[in-house]
Amino acid sequence: MTVMSFLSSRAFRVALLAGVGLTVTGLLYKYYTRKCSAVQDITGSAGDAGDQNWSAKLKLKMLLRRENVYCSDIDYVEEMIDNHIQGGPDKLQIIADFDATMTPMTYRGKSVPSCHELIETFPRLPDWYREKAAKIKDYYMAIEFDPHLTKEEKLPFMVEWWSKARELLISCSVVRSDIEAAIKSSNLYLREGSSKLLGKLYESDIPLLVFSAGIGDVIEQLFRQRYKLYDNIHIISNWMEFNHEGMLVGFKGETIHVFNKNTHALSNASYFDSLRHRHNVILLGDSLGDLDIIEGLSTEDRTLKIGYLNHHVEANLPKYKDGYDIVLAEEDSIELLQLLIENISNSS
Ligand SMILES: [Mg+2]
Repeated sequence: MTVMSFLSSRAFRVALLAGVGLTVTGLLYKYYTRKCSAVQDITGSAGDAGDQNWSAKLKLKMLLRRENVYCSDIDYVEEMIDNHIQGGPDKLQIIADFDATMTPMTYRGKSVPSCHELIETFPRLPDWYREKAAKIKDYYMAIEFDPHLTKEEKLPFMVEWWSKARELLISCSVVRSDIEAAIKSSNLYLREGSSKLLGKLYESDIPLLVFSAGIGDVIEQLFRQRYKLYDNIHIISNWMEFNHEGMLVGFKGETIHVFNKNTHALSNASYFDSLRHRHNVILLGDSLGDLDIIEGLSTEDRTLKIGYLNHHVEANLPKYKDGYDIVLAEEDSIELLQLLIENISNSS
């Protein structure tokens, strides 16, 4: 048989097909075994594959490895997460800042106002108010997020900011119903998916403390109007004082601003004491000052600190990585918290 006649023979074609078949089978086997071992690495057990917890755990671990997610010590973070999962919902409490933490920077393509920015949209406020308020905000916000200033250096400016903003507002004859009307026509929303998450926290009886340097009346009204103010939600914030005609006349108590949350955490010791048995904590914030809230907790608490870094990412990242266990840069979703709660609830 010549070479040409062999190449065109049936025997050659059969041999060729068998060879290709064996190669493809070999490659597929190699791919499959590699994938299984990767999954085992992540889940810790190949036998968990059919478990409903498996996919939530896998998703969480994948999320921690995304490009905009930074953990200075991934082993510590995973250990802390495992600890929280094992503890289940009964041992958990959540503490969250409000502006730019519970709320995203943008919602459905439009920017989201802070509590103070929402107030500036009250319809009865004169134009001169908006101009003055914008100037005050631009000036002091640059100081709040200046990566070259220490917290101590920023502190007196924050006090000055709050007092100027309040004086200006009180001079404008604001009434209580302005808040409701302003929220109705605003883009003030919590991160997408929050409605479901709040329901899940309520169902699982996990306390949520909203600890905000914003305005408590705005936060409360937002929950009532667009979400639900469940019994497990507690708000520590600045509260407005209205007279009997519903007109704003001042603010109650000492001002909470971004850099004195520690003293206010300590003055709300009874809240933290009532949850002392809930050793596992998830703290969420977007400012380094939000880290101070945990000064209200007892030392045995195990706190997983999650920080949203929304401004000057490159310059602020080292400090955020020092303070927070997990840093999410320019992140508007609530997925990380959702997955954590899903995993923790599944363990009960
Ligand atoms: Mg904030």
